[in-house]
Amino acid sequence: MTAAVAADEKLMANALSSLVKINSVGPESGGPGESKRGEYLVGLAKKLGFETVDVYESKDPRVPSGKRPNVVVRVKGTTNRKLWVVAHMDTVPVGDPAAWRYPPLGGKIISGRIYGRGAEDNGQELIASLFGLRALLKSGVRPETDIGLVFVADEECGNTHGIDFLIKKRLFKKGDLAVVPDHGERNGDRIAVVEKSIAWVEVEIIGKQTHGSTPDKGINAFEVAAEFMLAALEKVRRKYTMKDPLFEPPTSTFTATKCEPNGPNINTVPGRQTFYFDFRILPEYKIDDIMGVLSKVARQIEESSGAKINLSFVQRADAAPRTPTDSEIVVRLMKAVKAVRGLQVRPVGIGGGTCAAPFRRIGIEAAVWSTVPGLAHDANEYVNIKDMVADAKVYALLFAGKNLSKG
Ligand SMILES: [Zn+2]
Repeated sequence: MTAAVAADEKLMANALSSLVKINSVGPESGGPGESKRGEYLVGLAKKLGFETVDVYESKDPRVPSGKRPNVVVRVKGTTNRKLWVVAHMDTVPVGDPAAWRYPPLGGKIISGRIYGRGAEDNGQELIASLFGLRALLKSGVRPETDIGLVFVADEECGNTHGIDFLIKKRLFKKGDLAVVPDHGERNGDRIAVVEKSIAWVEVEIIGKQTHGSTPDKGINAFEVAAEFMLAALEKVRRKYTMKDPLFEPPTSTFTATKCEPNGPNINTVPGRQTFYFDFRILPEYKIDDIMGVLSKVARQIEESSGAKINLSFVQRADAAPRTPTDSEIVVRLMKAVKAVRGLQVRPVGIGGGTCAAPFRRIGIEAAVWSTVPGLAHDANEYVNIKDMVADAKVYALLFAGKNLSKG
């Protein structure tokens, strides 16, 4: 089975190179969307021998084609279970073209690498999952479960026309399994099973401006901000102390980050001050509870200082329930990685959000895994062809499951 993948190395490299050449930036960043890339992938899947290739289109008047495509390649398994692999077709913009060694939409293949925007995020896994499944076709092995490769639109800007659109169409059911290869490690030895909640909180203090020589006539918003910041941080850090060794660091983190300017000169007591908190919170804690603690501290300091303290969210992402470390998809994926690369895989938690969260919310166990250099969104984004081939082998073994020996 892995030999069938290895034989396709050139085909895979050329396919990813071709894919990178197709601009698939979303309309929010002035791009044309994924229509051309979707057409390419449908053509490729058919050429590789896949019979069931469906396109689910979400209407979007902002792109030239008027539609955002979601491509689904299906192969029947020998049981009724379903396993989905979800990778996204859209990319972020190239950024400053001068920062790139090779043209960002060139798909340059050199020294075992493929360069270009979207090569890592998320092109490699689109191709690796497709060729992993093709190895089964070539070897005459039926997958253990029904396999659905889902190439979605609109991941970089909110998922409305991508995974959320497909969830609304009821493509996925509770009890299905999912791999979301949209985050990974250099040697592919970690599977993310849980994400922290994220809360970015804006804190606005309204005091009373006055001359720097007569501070008693005003209310110093900067000093109130400092008092509130330290009091609030101390409260939440003392209260939310749970540790989870899956995460690095293992606790929730609460920290103050950005501070807005409060005026141009030194001899004025500032009447307004705005600053921000960045909170990364273990999924067992509720953002609302933490905001409740903040509000209580704010009310106390309002009373003692006479200032007004306003709290609001700049960003809020509530973590989805975790995928258990001994869940079927995690165990099967660990086995496949071990068989291909001899690596002992470790389940981990991550601080940011992926497409796995919407799955976990509807009761689907989702594992986040891939083998990538970690250059998503950077200039000179590239992937290693050997990683792409190794990941395709992992998919082949994962898909075949217990039917491997019958091939
Ligand atoms: Zn991505």
